[in-house]
Amino acid sequence: MMDIQVKQMPAYDVIVVGGGIAGVAAAVAAARGGAKTLLMEKTVTLGGLATQGLISWYEPLCDGEGKQMIHGIAEELIRLSVKYGFEDMPHKWGGVGVPRANYTRYATHYSPHIFALALIRYLEENDVALRFDTLATYPDVEDGICRGILVETVGGREYFPAKMVIDATGDATVCERAGIPTEYGDNFFTYITHELNADDAQKLAESGNFCPARRWRWTGSDLFGNGNTDNKHLQARTADDVTAYMVRGGRTVLDRLEQEDRFSREILSIPTMPQFRKIRRIIGESEFNGTEHDLHIDNAVGTMGDFRKAGRRFELPYTTLYNKAVRNLYAAGRIISAKGDGWEITRVIPVAALSGEGAGTAAALCVKQGCDNHTLDVALLQKALTDAGNRISL
Ligand SMILES: Cc1cc2nc3c(=O)[nH]c(=O)nc-3n(C[C@H](O)[C@H](O)[C@H](O)COP(=O)(O)OP(=O)(O)OC[C@H]3O[C@@H](n4cnc5c(N)ncnc54)[C@H](O)[C@@H]3O)c2cc1C
Repeated sequence: MMDIQVKQMPAYDVIVVGGGIAGVAAAVAAARGGAKTLLMEKTVTLGGLATQGLISWYEPLCDGEGKQMIHGIAEELIRLSVKYGFEDMPHKWGGVGVPRANYTRYATHYSPHIFALALIRYLEENDVALRFDTLATYPDVEDGICRGILVETVGGREYFPAKMVIDATGDATVCERAGIPTEYGDNFFTYITHELNADDAQKLAESGNFCPARRWRWTGSDLFGNGNTDNKHLQARTADDVTAYMVRGGRTVLDRLEQEDRFSREILSIPTMPQFRKIRRIIGESEFNGTEHDLHIDNAVGTMGDFRKAGRRFELPYTTLYNKAVRNLYAAGRIISAKGDGWEITRVIPVAALSGEGAGTAAALCVKQGCDNHTLDVALLQKALTDAGNRISL
């Protein structure tokens, strides 16, 4: 076996692995909580699926009946998503109007590319150290404590010591390798590109409205399985699974392009990460299963609606963010402990930001208090989240 040098890197109070929406929210919350925070991201872009995956629709912060459910960093991020772009939320929610008739929930379209740039500035403004091109490979776990993260970079293999770690990888790589139990998700095949056709370009030139100019084109199925013609459920367990998914997506788009007039359209973007909705999630101290609507939970870290259906309101339990088998590790985003319908409700952008803020705030408090995820005083966490503008109970 080759002897590979490991470079020792500076220690951080909180290391967040993964710069998707959950990771950004977690890192900002931890830094605001006074923790020296590093966010490491394996690519060179922030936003994860919400930017690189071309998901350009921020699901609602409200319950669909006029009540705002999610505040805090999720709300800062929805506003940031449109701050430098041409889209906006409905008037009722303080926007200048979504160019999509009849939609009234607190949601918006946004430009994924502009949002990705804005997220870098957002981290800078919040004193989060950012490291791109840093692939977290293995957590260094000893006696139920993650002492640091081993990474691969262009500069070689490196080791970052940490007091607290937050896994926001979208696939629970850190938690799984730390020994926490996980479950794989089933996916319909979906491949989305952003395209511009000649008719829409004409409309843009005449109206000055850019909205039709970035059109989603689907290959495969929507989230309900409509269009899932081969009736297959896919999982992302290996690099072969991911490769097959991306190759299939690219091939089907190319097949379609072959049938079209090549002078009639352009592809503006292809996804640079696989559009699996659910890869792997942790099995935490509790599992949110989506049946808990209108139910009060003592250890809630926030409230949320259901993006698919108006009138359903939930509290998100703190205990979905960790498994005490590793006492200084949290999960955030689409990998938290939510199963079945609960996974559907929690995997979308606003809830990823909500769980990220919960995990980041909790991690900073653990550093301050010198405690573990399961010994943290939840009342203290709830006070910190409330002080930061969040709603904790229904
Ligand atoms: C087809 C599809 C349609 C969707 N539509 C919508 C929609 O309309 N509206 C909506 O709100 N949501 C939608 N979603 C869901 C939503 O986009 C995501 O679930 C959400 O953005 C997940 O955020 P996250 O931060 O948890 O994870 P991710 O976005 O997956 O971010 C994880 C980040 O971690 C990085 N990373 C992973 N492993 C490592 C590692 N080892 N080291 C360092 N970095 C690592 C990744 O590069 C990535 O940047 C959709 C999802 C899909 C797939």
